Amino acid sequence: MSNQDAKLGYIADVFKFAYEQRTLSGEVKVAVFERLSDLLAEPAGVLTYRIEGDLDAMRRPRLTLSIDGRLMLRCQRCLGGLGWDLAVSNALQPVRSGQEIPEEELEDDEVDAIEVDGDLDVLSLLEDEIILALPLAPRHDECEPSRPEGGAVKESPFAVLSALKAKGNAS
Ligand SMILES: [Zn+2]
Repeated sequence: MSNQDAKLGYIADVFKFAYEQRTLSGEVKVAVFERLSDLLAEPAGVLTYRIEGDLDAMRRPRLTLSIDGRLMLRCQRCLGGLGWDLAVSNALQPVRSGQEIPEEELEDDEVDAIEVDGDLDVLSLLEDEIILALPLAPRHDECEPSRPEGGAVKESPFAVLSALKAKGNAS
């Protein structure tokens, strides 16, 4: 894992970033996201991301975030890998922490307000947005359950473990 991947860095002043209409984009390995990796069958592949700063019609700072790539989810039925195309496209409204979020923004489904206190951690922002976009219970269209009812029941890993333990104690 290259150091560059592990540190996407920070946007030091997200409000300035928006006012100056700056853009941040690049590629990042899936394996870099620790929380996300725990949810996947395999943390393989590379995602592309783009964060665009601008002002909305009311001249409020806005970030347009897009993240694309393919993730290997874990099928909830057979626990096998399930390829899934990630396509995040989200508008975010940065607000200073402690600042009241106007009610109309809370009602606006198309824009999510995010509290920013100091630096904006790019990696953690991307990871939050990816996790929110994941399907709740991914499943293959057609697959066999990992423990078929009425069929041969595989020995559970716990049974194997306690058998090993018992063996260890006996010797
Ligand atoms: Zn499956």
